Amino acid sequence: MKTALYPGSFDPVTNGHLDIIERSSKMFDKVVVAIGENINKSCLFSLEERKDMLTQAVNHLNNVEVQSFKGLAIDFAKEINSNIIIRGLRAVSDFDYEFQMALTNRKINPEIETIFIMTQEKFIFLSASNVKELASYNADVKDLVPELVQTKLKEKFKGSN
Ligand code: ADP
Repeated sequence: MKTALYPGSFDPVTNGHLDIIERSSKMFDKVVVAIGENINKSCLFSLEERKDMLTQAVNHLNNVEVQSFKGLAIDFAKEINSNIIIRGLRAVSDFDYEFQMALTNRKINPEIETIFIMTQEKFIFLSASNVKELASYNADVKDLVPELVQTKLKEKFKGSN
C-alpha cells in the first residue's frame, strides 16, 4: 500500500491545499495530511482548531486521514510507513525554499522522496497568510477557503477593524 504524507501548517486550510489533497488522493492508496506543531511559528488557529477544520474539509475523501506531528516531517513519514512527502508548488518564490528543504531531507533520509504537485492557475496567489489578512479586513474569502473555514475566520476577527 502506498501512503503519502502531506505536511504543513494549514493555518487555516485553503482551497489551494484542498486541491493538492484531492489530486494526491487519486495517486496514492492513502494520504496522511499532517499538521506540524512548529514551535517557531505563531498561528492564528490552535492545533485543535486547524485539525478540526481540515478533518471536516477532507470528509468526502475516504483515503485521506488528518493527523498532527511534532518534529521533522521525514521522521513522521517513517513513523507512518511512508516514503513519500508531498508538497505544493505555487510561484517561483516557493521553489527556492522547497528545493532546499527537499535536498536537506534527502540528505537525512535518502529513502524518502519529495513529490511536488503544481498548483492550479486559479490558486497560484492563494496562501493561508493572504486569506488571514483579507479576513482581518472583513473581505470576502468565500472562493478561497471551505465554508466552515470562512465561518471560523469571521468568528476570529469579529469585533476587530
Ligand atoms: P508550510 O507552513 O509548511 O509552508 P503551508 O500550510 O503553508 O505549510 O502549506 C503546506 C503545503 O501546501 C506547502 O507545500 C505549500 O507550498 C502548499 N500550498 C500552500 N498553498 C498552496 C496553493 N495555493 N496551491 C498549492 N500548494 C499550496
